[in-house]
Amino acid sequence: MPSNPLLHFITKVINLEDIKVINYDFITNDEIVIEVENKLKVGQCPQCGNTTDKIHQNHWYTVRDIPLSDYQVLLKVNRRQLRCTRCRPVFSESLDFIKTRRTYTKRLAMKVIKEVLETNVESAAIRNRMTASEVETLLKEQEADLLKEKPLQLKKLGIDEITQLKGGKNYAAVLVDLETRKPITLLEKR
Ligand SMILES: [Zn+2]
Repeated sequence: MPSNPLLHFITKVINLEDIKVINYDFITNDEIVIEVENKLKVGQCPQCGNTTDKIHQNHWYTVRDIPLSDYQVLLKVNRRQLRCTRCRPVFSESLDFIKTRRTYTKRLAMKVIKEVLETNVESAAIRNRMTASEVETLLKEQEADLLKEKPLQLKKLGIDEITQLKGGKNYAAVLVDLETRKPITLLEKR
């Protein structure tokens, strides 16, 4: 187990809210696996709102994150399953930096979308060690998530037409957050 000051340092560097690093491992000379878990001991039951720290079981899985210097980063995440003491179901805790069932962090998704807009799908794939089809899947998932999660907020978003999106020929528009001017996702041509 690495020393606490070192883990504390990496926790600072990866800069994910309420997340602490508990271990790390250089798996190749330019790829690092960082084990993280939630700093918060309790989670909130999505059914009744009760908070609980009763762990049903740990559930470890790996997602890709944005690079750290020259290192590609894989986060080994523990999304704990907790048991509500009031209504008794088991639920998975929510983690702000990653959506359920996704294999990449939210900030990596934003990075890939930005790079697709600036270059093309192929370049974005190479920069992030993904295949072009993985990038396409990411774009489709981002679009699906956005339409599912924020149907009411979509009115607040602007749709900027992209006249020429090199390499992303299936994508015709990008949703932009009107307040931050940041692209949120690409929309497939219909
Ligand atoms: Zn409950």
